[in-house]
Amino acid sequence: MPGKTVKVDRNITLTFWEKLYIPEIIRGLYITTKHFLPNFVSVVRAYILNKPEERKIMTIYYPEEKPNIPEAYRGRPVLVRGEDGKEKCVACGLCEVACPPHCISIVGAIRKDGTRYPETYVLDGSRCIFCGLCEEACPEEAIVMSHNYENLTELDRGLMIYDKDALLVPEAKLKERLEFIRKRAYSKCNY
Ligand code: SF4
Ligand code: SF4
Repeated sequence: MPGKTVKVDRNITLTFWEKLYIPEIIRGLYITTKHFLPNFVSVVRAYILNKPEERKIMTIYYPEEKPNIPEAYRGRPVLVRGEDGKEKCVACGLCEVACPPHCISIVGAIRKDGTRYPETYVLDGSRCIFCGLCEEACPEEAIVMSHNYENLTELDRGLMIYDKDALLVPEAKLKERLEFIRKRAYSKCNY
């Protein structure tokens, strides 16, 4: 189940009380305390009764428990491997041009049947800012922002330069994201 997508209104005009600042600090402390106390009491109670399933805690025990990722979440960009086993990318280069930090490099080639494909496709994950512009620019649904939030960093930047084989993910595993980008394309919503 995907998590909830929240649209944030960035054109906020502050009221008189918000401009005073201190009432907002008090409100923030009240909200924090409102969540903290029931959580704390329920954890202590569950511990005393030895019933961990009864805790009403809002956080999760990661990595044993995994969070629900919102459908609009932009994780590591990956290339889509179509059902025929081939990459869907046609090496048009639009993602390369759209990428603000220039972390994509493509060398295109032509197959014997005349179709285009990327002979090499390299994405430097250490420069990626997860903006999703590559996904938006792609006319083939060939590069998408996956929900992978776990394998984003390495101790060596060199290990974050992904080649085509490292980037390709079967279409079946990206179904949820592909459905989301189709829905987004036909709606006026700005995710
Ligand atoms: S998400 Fe943004 S920064 Fe990362 S590869 Fe795509 S266009 Fe480039
Ligand atoms: S925009 Fe899509 S089809 Fe074009 S090169 Fe990038 S991934 Fe391939």
